[in-house]
Amino acid sequence: MKILVINSGSSSLKFKLFVLPELSVSASGLIEEIGDERSPARLRYQTGPGDTRTISKTLHLTEHRQAISAMTELLRESGTMNNVEDLAAIGHRVVHGGEDFHEPVLLDAKIIHTIEELVPLAPLHNPANLAGIRVSRELAPDTPQVAVFDTAFHQTIPEHAYLYALPRKLYKNNKVRRYGFHGTSHGYVAGQAAQYLGRPLKELRVISLHLGNGASAAAIHNGKCIDTSMGLTPLEGLIMGTRSGDLDPAILFYLSRETGLDMDGLDRMLNKQSGLKGICGENDMRQITESAARGDNRAKLALTMFCYRLKKYIGSYMAALGGVDCLIFTGGIGENSSLVRKMSCEGLQPFGITVDPIRNDQHHQNTYAIQAGESNTKILVIPTNEELEIARQTLQVITTTPLQPDQM
Ligand code: AMP
Repeated sequence: MKILVINSGSSSLKFKLFVLPELSVSASGLIEEIGDERSPARLRYQTGPGDTRTISKTLHLTEHRQAISAMTELLRESGTMNNVEDLAAIGHRVVHGGEDFHEPVLLDAKIIHTIEELVPLAPLHNPANLAGIRVSRELAPDTPQVAVFDTAFHQTIPEHAYLYALPRKLYKNNKVRRYGFHGTSHGYVAGQAAQYLGRPLKELRVISLHLGNGASAAAIHNGKCIDTSMGLTPLEGLIMGTRSGDLDPAILFYLSRETGLDMDGLDRMLNKQSGLKGICGENDMRQITESAARGDNRAKLALTMFCYRLKKYIGSYMAALGGVDCLIFTGGIGENSSLVRKMSCEGLQPFGITVDPIRNDQHHQNTYAIQAGESNTKILVIPTNEELEIARQTLQVITTTPLQPDQM
């Protein structure tokens, strides 16, 4: 039996097929540009882990329904999944679970309705996740389906850390609070860290830094998240590829008055034209590092600002946790950029955080430690694996929850 994990974005569909009981990967793929009239959808597909071939196809897909059909067709053709009866369950990534979901759940009509009600909190993400869920339920009506929420891991954050200093009624009436995202990744790498260190997670103070195109930090005390940098939306916190992260909210009133930018214009500016891209015109950290090495001053500034913001978060979460046993770098940048790791930990030696330059420059496929001998804090580079974590949580749910007819 197998577990299929589906992560549907607004114009993309990522999937991974895991074989029970070890949850080894038997196939994975990505379909992009679904519904784009101007360019056909692209599909990249790999059976693995032994098979390193990547099959690429160009398809005309106008909606998620067709993308999921194309995915099932491919899985059938390649012999990795003969029919949907091969599936023990389907696990879906859902970005926003609001305050309603603290853990993964079996999907039924009522749960789907609650996810729909949360659309105003995640207008770009939840509708895409729902599209994937609806089509999967039609195609595999007898297969249990599980929703795993990006926000769930952060539901242990205490009130004093999740509330904004705003009129109370905005929380009561409009659900304005910090929710946090990347929870599946933060939870997964924290578990991996405990395993690597051979210590129970329940005894560790961890700061997890998920640094990809989107970036967030989480403070994890004895296995429970107590603070995170993203807020009501994924815009708050660290500097990201195209998102500003923290800023003075009065900038928006000022800009609106001075430039006449309306709400949509401000939204676009903060989410798509800011962050690394706003600072130096480029949002890809690899390019920025190369440009900085060639002496480009704006690229150097973008790197410096990115790492300075990171360092401030490390410091504030050390204060919140009362120290830190383990600092984790993950995500495309965290896993691959030794320069970002070095720069963001520079000057933290007095606080017991020291990176070993040689270990930091070596790259390994699996978890590895980069702290120097004298460092009190372990500093780990851990490849994240959100799909595996979704598969694990899906398996956990179907083995512990009795199924009702509507939940299949
Ligand atoms: P993700 O969203 O997790 O896929 O991460 C994407 C980010 O990781 C992009 O900014 C990439 O430029 C960055 N990245 C990937 N590989 C490297 C690398 N070797 N050095 C620096 N940044 C990298």
